[in-house]
Amino acid sequence: MYAAKRSQSGYEVYSDTQEQSTRADLAFKSELLQAINRDELVLYFQPKIELGTSKVTSVEALVRWQHPQRGFLSPDLFVPMAEQTGLIDQLTVWVLKKAMLQCTEFNNAGMDITVAVNLSARSLHDFRLPGEIARMLFEGKIRPSMLVLEITESAVMSNPAEALEVLQILDKMGVSLSIDDFGTGYSSLAYLTKLPVDEIKIDKSFVLEMVLEKHAAVIVRSTIELGHNLGKKVVAEGVETREIWNLLSALGCDTAQGYYMSKPLPADKLMQWLRESQWKVTG
Ligand code: C2E
Ligand code: CA
Ligand code: CA
Repeated sequence: MYAAKRSQSGYEVYSDTQEQSTRADLAFKSELLQAINRDELVLYFQPKIELGTSKVTSVEALVRWQHPQRGFLSPDLFVPMAEQTGLIDQLTVWVLKKAMLQCTEFNNAGMDITVAVNLSARSLHDFRLPGEIARMLFEGKIRPSMLVLEITESAVMSNPAEALEVLQILDKMGVSLSIDDFGTGYSSLAYLTKLPVDEIKIDKSFVLEMVLEKHAAVIVRSTIELGHNLGKKVVAEGVETREIWNLLSALGCDTAQGYYMSKPLPADKLMQWLRESQWKVTG
């Protein structure tokens, strides 16, 4: 039944391999559930830096799994499976909780830095999520604007009407919204302009290529212009070199994120980086 629902064809023919993968799915599901409950997941944070001032304005929370047998796993190896097996809701709540703890830590240290969390497509169709986020913000005494939610354009387009409704609720709550991987989905530009988002993030594939490939540079330049004309901040991810930083700066891009400034870091290393690096935290 689940396979049929997933394929969206309404039916699915039984096969042996499917049985094996179902068993593997179940094993994975119980392992991941344990990982969430036993805190085997780890949150890393990558700074986003304002190009004009070199000031750190935000950090993006990126989840990893310290698996007891398989070692350190990147999110690409388990987030898609979490989405398929329905565990993504629990994972998202876990990430939000940890991200909000980080918000409190910034606040206590007098650092004016927002924390961004990635939402999956499923979360955008979960009408309980805004209430849950509101409760977590209230309990953590965190200003809603200190939380940024990153959503991909393909997640929005999987059910635009429903996604818009959830996004409008989150926007009214005062949470900031960001469109991730901009330029990679096949979405309607007209529709995207209707979304109550504050920021768009140019996908790293274009940013990485912009010094090598003319077309990528054109996409980056046009996206910055488009974003600004729509009154949105523009973030470039995948900034790996000083050359790319300088180019983005010349193009008037607002914010940069990438290995040139810092890789994603665990919370303690992040705090050390914020204290010691050349990038400014306040001022
Ligand atoms: P994303 O949201 O597009 O995150 C950016 C990815 O680019 C991260 O990979 C980051 O480490 C990587 N990156 C950052 N700077 C650079 C750079 O300069 N060069 C290159 N080549 N890569 C860079 P990561 O951490 O492996 O995450 C992969 C994806 O997994 C994320 O892509 C996001 O879609 C998903 N993900 C991560 N954490 C979560 C989460 O908590 N919830 C959900 N739903 N998805 C998550
Ligand atoms: Ca993201
Ligand atoms: Ca991205």
